[in-house]
Amino acid sequence: DSKETLLEVNNIEVIYNHVILVLKGVSLNVPKGGITALLGGNGAGKTTTLKAISNLLHSERGEVTKGSVIYRGEPVHHLSPEALVKKGVVQVMEGRHCFEHLTIEENLLTGAYTRRDGGAAVAADLEMVYTYFPRLKERRKSQAGYTSGGEQQMCAIGRALMSRPETILLDEPSMGLAPQLVEEIFTIVKNLNENEGVSFLLAEQNTNVALRFAHQGYILESGRVVMEGPAAELRENPDVKEFYLGMS
Ligand code: ATP
Repeated sequence: DSKETLLEVNNIEVIYNHVILVLKGVSLNVPKGGITALLGGNGAGKTTTLKAISNLLHSERGEVTKGSVIYRGEPVHHLSPEALVKKGVVQVMEGRHCFEHLTIEENLLTGAYTRRDGGAAVAADLEMVYTYFPRLKERRKSQAGYTSGGEQQMCAIGRALMSRPETILLDEPSMGLAPQLVEEIFTIVKNLNENEGVSFLLAEQNTNVALRFAHQGYILESGRVVMEGPAAELRENPDVKEFYLGMS
């Protein structure tokens, strides 16, 4: 069934520093084989939602105080990020986070560390990543810190792919990139979705580009989902047009 739900976020509440209520009951579903966009302005709670899913809030003194996160029927928000990777879910954080002193190829290989299969499978996947990201192949011997912002974003996605994920949580892939590169990266996301079957939950402030590439979307405002639906419907919604697509 193409509509099988992989990830279910049920009514989660997140509080920072014991007092600041940031998510006020967020629910969403990520279907298998789809691209789901999590939209909203600065501070709406997109990053917090992704970090709640992958249990990355502790270092920021945040905690999920209500609700649940279910992956393939199992509660997961208490799992370590490594355990979640083993279940098939990997997060690409905002700001890219490549290891600056490693080469692009060394960065990609760090993404395979949770795998138990051997070197041949890893080598094949490295080639798979290079077919989607020819720029990374060209720059594979370059130190990541000396590559462009777009190449570092590609490197971060490529590294996530090296764990052979079923689902990628992608935080703000367009951030700081020129429009042409944003287009290039979203096209690669679409190709990975269609050809490798990877499901995506992507947080984006760039509503326009996200709704062109996603199948469905959720719009967050002040820690609540205020609109949701198929991307084609959201694109035509008058409120979305006025407040998020910059045309009325
Ligand atoms: P952005 O695109 O700017 O990352 P966002 O939609 O991802 O926006 P979040 O980063 O999830 O939003 O932030 C949601 C709210 O939580 C904001 O008001 C922010 O100030 C607050 N917040 C985020 N991190 C913390 C923290 N560690 N402690 C306290 N408040 C926080």
